[in-house]
Parts: sequence; C-alpha cells; structure tokens
Amino acid sequence: MVKREDLNHPQVSGNKWWKLKYNLEEAIGQGHDTLLTFGGPYSNHVYATAAAANENGLKGIGIIRGEETLPLNATLSFAKRQGMAVHYVSRERYRGKTDPRFVQGLRNRFGNFYLIPEGGTNGPAIKGCEEWARELGNTIGFDCLCLPVGTGGTMAGMVRVLTDKQVVGFSSLKGGGFLDQEVGQWAGDGPRNWRIETGYHFGGYGKAGRGLMDFILEFEKAHQVPLDPVYTGKMMFGVFDLIAKGAIGRGKRVLALHTGGLQGRAGFNF
Ligand SMILES: *Cc1c(COP(=O)(O)O)cnc(C)c1O
Repeated sequence: MVKREDLNHPQVSGNKWWKLKYNLEEAIGQGHDTLLTFGGPYSNHVYATAAAANENGLKGIGIIRGEETLPLNATLSFAKRQGMAVHYVSRERYRGKTDPRFVQGLRNRFGNFYLIPEGGTNGPAIKGCEEWARELGNTIGFDCLCLPVGTGGTMAGMVRVLTDKQVVGFSSLKGGGFLDQEVGQWAGDGPRNWRIETGYHFGGYGKAGRGLMDFILEFEKAHQVPLDPVYTGKMMFGVFDLIAKGAIGRGKRVLALHTGGLQGRAGFNF
C-alpha cells in the first residue's frame, strides 16, 4: 500500500506540510511577519516554506547554500514567485548556519524573523508529524510503515506515536548512521520498534544513477504513482528489495509513505 501524502497540498506537499503546520502557528502566534530558513538550491523545504509563507501572508527569506546560478532552477524561481527573498551564502559560511553569531548577523541584516532550521526539523515539526502519525494509525490498517529519511524529523514523529507498529526508515544520504541517534533522541524511552536502512542512498544525498532512474520509471508505469529521485524513489526501491529478500512483509501489511518531493524531479534528467 502507498499513502500518497504528496497529494495533500498542491505546493506545500507531503511531510513538509506537516512539518510547517505548527511552525506557522508558532510564528503567527508570536507576532512574527517573516519566516527565514535555509537549504540547498533544490530544497523541498525551501520550496514548501516559500509557498506556506505566501499563503499565510508572511514574508519569506531563503538562505541558500552556494552561488547563484542563472537561469534560476525551478525550485528557486518558484520560491521567488512566491515572494521569497533569496540570499546566497558560500558553502563554507553555510556550514555555520546554526552558529548563534551567524544567526545574529542575519538578524542585524534582515530584522526580526521566525527561524526554521534546514530541513525544517524542530519541536513544532515533530509535533506536526506526530499528528500525521495518529491520522495514519487511525485511518489505515497496516503493520509496517516505510518512509524516506533526511534529517529524521518525520521518522521521529512516526516512531513516537506508532509504538505498536514496525517503522522502517530509508536514509537518502550516505553515512546515515548518525540518524539512528537523532531519531533515538526523539523516540526517548519508547519501544525499539524502528530501524533505519542505510544501504539505499545510491551514492549520497541528491545522487541517483541509472539503476534508480530506471526503477522509478518502471514503478511509475506499473502503478501510476510518480516518485522523486531524492527520497521516495530510494525508499520504494528499498521496500521492494527488502520484501524480495523476505526482510519485511512476510504476512504483514506494509505501508509505504509517499512524503512528496515531486518538485525536485525537475532537477533530474530522466
Ligand atoms: C524533506 C523530505 C524528507 C525527509 O524528511 P526528514 O523529516 O528530514 O527526515 C523525505 N521525503 C521528502 C519527499 C522530503 O521532501
């Protein structure tokens, strides 16, 4: 089974909608008129934040890793059309994005704003994903939930709520071992009913390759469900592989969570 959360909103789609939900509430409740966030030039999170800010009458500022390349790619030209102010910082400076001095520098330059971290993972984001998890648990019968993992925020929300299910995350990045600790911190003392597969990153974050692209095209042809090469494609490849190996499935109802991200497809040549 596939839960197509990519369809929940035309622009703020998939998990990003849930991760932004309570951040928007917080920002508006605290009287902010500006959201500021960080991301790479193809970031689903930047795309979603730009649309969410616009929809809620807030200003958006995107701090983008690296130099501007023209013509703007589809993600950033969309963000600009939504009214987001796009600023570039070198890869080196970008690495310091959580440094309080760097953030203070941004406040000096842009004035007051509500800060959402890269990838959007924070307390309010996990609260939103917990709510999503309750909705899934209450409306769909399944035993095992599979989902793609970037920062681990979405998975954290899932494992905190779906304690009576098996939850399997698929790391979209190389060296995803640290994600175990990340999700573990949020999961607290809850049952260890979850694990993160780290063997389906296809060379690293944002990397794909022919094998993955062919799988995505075949999957789409067979099931009429579009996938993206950064997250959902890798997850679905992993789900099929683990089922074939008998590592998941075996008489269990498997639910693959389509977390969205289809805007990112434009950055790949199929
Ligand atoms: C951002 C994103 C993820 C990763 O979510 P995390 O909460 O950072 O783990 C997964 N899938 C899609 C489509 C995304 O855009």
